[in-house]
Amino acid sequence: MKSLDQLDYCHTYADLGPSLSSRVNPTPLSGSYLIHTNQRLAKQLGIDIESVGDEILIQLLSGQGILESWSPIAMKYTGHQFGQYNPDLGDGRGLLLTEFINDNGEKWDFHLKGSGQTPYSRGADGRAVIRSSVREYLISAAMDGLSIPTTQALAISGASTPVRREEIESAATLLRIAPSHVRFGHFEYLFYSGQHSEIKALADYIILWHMPELKDSEDKYAAFFQQVTKRTASMIAHWQAYGFCHGVMNTDNMSILGLTFDYGPFAFLDTYLSKHICNHSDYSGRYAFHQQPGIGQWNLSALGYALSSLIDSKQIEASLQEYSTHIQAEYRRLMRARFGLDSEHDSDPELINSCLELMEKLGLDFNFTLRVLSETGPDNWADIGLDSTLNKPEFIAWLREYQQRIALDYGNDQQRQHAMQGVNPKYILRTHLAQEAIEQVENGEFDILETWLTVLANPFIEHVCPTHWSLPPSNDQKGICLSCSS
Ligand code: AMP
Ligand code: MG
Repeated sequence: MKSLDQLDYCHTYADLGPSLSSRVNPTPLSGSYLIHTNQRLAKQLGIDIESVGDEILIQLLSGQGILESWSPIAMKYTGHQFGQYNPDLGDGRGLLLTEFINDNGEKWDFHLKGSGQTPYSRGADGRAVIRSSVREYLISAAMDGLSIPTTQALAISGASTPVRREEIESAATLLRIAPSHVRFGHFEYLFYSGQHSEIKALADYIILWHMPELKDSEDKYAAFFQQVTKRTASMIAHWQAYGFCHGVMNTDNMSILGLTFDYGPFAFLDTYLSKHICNHSDYSGRYAFHQQPGIGQWNLSALGYALSSLIDSKQIEASLQEYSTHIQAEYRRLMRARFGLDSEHDSDPELINSCLELMEKLGLDFNFTLRVLSETGPDNWADIGLDSTLNKPEFIAWLREYQQRIALDYGNDQQRQHAMQGVNPKYILRTHLAQEAIEQVENGEFDILETWLTVLANPFIEHVCPTHWSLPPSNDQKGICLSCSS
C-alpha cells in the first residue's frame, strides 16, 4: 500500500501529443468537505488513501491543489449524440489528473469529475452536483458488485459553491478511476478531423497498455476492433441480464475498454418493462432498455467507420456480425444462470422468455421476482406460500413448467436455490433508494454511503441494513424523473 503522494505517477496519455488534450488545472471550489472514500477500492488498487490526511485529500478533491507530479489535462473527443455527430465534445467538466502504475503493474487513471471549466465546456459551468455524484459513486460500486464491467469511484466531496441546475444545488466532485478514459469518440475525433496517423498511434497506445496480447497479432488493428466489439457485447449482455438501463449511449459515453461509463440518468428496471426509457430527455426512446443491444452495434459501426483507414471493411463487418452472436450467447448464459438452469435444453429460451413476458404483463418486479424464485422452491409453490405479488394464476402455471424443468437438473432443490442466490442479487441500487441516499447525504448523514458500499460489494448475501433496501418500490416511490441534466 502506498500513500497518495508516493504513487508511481505517469502521463502516458498526455505523451500522445497536444492534439488529444489540453493542459488545464482544476478550478478550486470553496467550502469543501470530504463526503466519503471507498476504502475497499483503495485497498484493491494498493492505495493508502487516508495517510495524506483529510486536509490534503480535500484540497486535491476540491481542486485547491494538485500534487507536484500531476499534470491535469482535459481530453478532447467528439461523438454521435442521439445519432448526430457533434464535433465540439471533450472533457467539459472533468480532468484526467494523472495516471499511476500500482504494485501489480496495472495502470490507472485518476479523473476528477466536476473540477471546473475546460476548453470543451461550451459555456457550461464545468461542475457536478451532489445528486449526480452520489448516484455515480454508488452505481459504480453496484455494477462492480454484480461483476458488470465499470469505471469505479474512489472518493466524493461536497462544496458550498452553488451550482445552477433546475434549481440551485451544491457542487460536488467525484474521483473516478478506470484503466483508461479513452472513448469511441476519441477515435471519431481523430477521424473526422483528418488526423489519420494519430488514429494508428491511439490504437497502438490502447493495445500496448490494455490489450498487450494483441501486440503480435498478424492483423492487430482488426484484432483490436474485434476485441472492442467483444467487450462491448459482454458489457451490454450484462446490462440486459440485470435490467440496467444506461440512458445516454452516445458514442462519447462508450469506453474503448467495454466499461460502463459516464453515468447519468441510468436506472435498474423495477417492474419488468422491456421498452423502458429511463432518460426523460430521450423523447424518441432511442436508448430504451430493449434498444441497448442494437445501439451498441450502431455505436461500434460508428467506431469501425472511424477506424476504416486501419482495417479492411470486410473485417469490420465480420466483427460487427460476431457482436450479435456474442451478445446473444452471453445474455443466454447469464439468464440461464439467473434461472438456475444447469444442463441445456432447446426449450430453455422459451421458458425464460415466457417468464419475462409474464413479468411484463403482470407488472412484476424483475430482480425481486428472480430473487424470490431463488429463495423458494416447489414446497412453497405448491401451497402458494410465495410472495403475494407473484400469487397470480398465470405465474403459478409458469411455475409448474419451471418446476418440471429444474427437476431435470437438481435432485435436491436446495442446490438450485443456493446456485441461484449467488447470481440473483438481494439488493439492487434502485432509483428511489439512490434518491433516499442522496437526501441522507444532503442532510450530512455520510455514513449511509459506507453501509451502501458494504451491501453493494456483495449484494447476493443478507446484510444488516434497512429491510426496504431488498424490496421493490411502492407505487408512490416509482416514477422519479431522471434527465441528462446533472
Ligand atoms: P454527458 O451528457 O455528461 O455525456 O456530456 C456531454 C458533453 O457535455 C461532454 O463533453 C461533457 O464534458 C459536457 N458537459 C456535461 N455537463 C457539463 C457541465 N456542467 N459543464 C461543462 N461541460 C459539461
Ligand atoms: Mg459523457
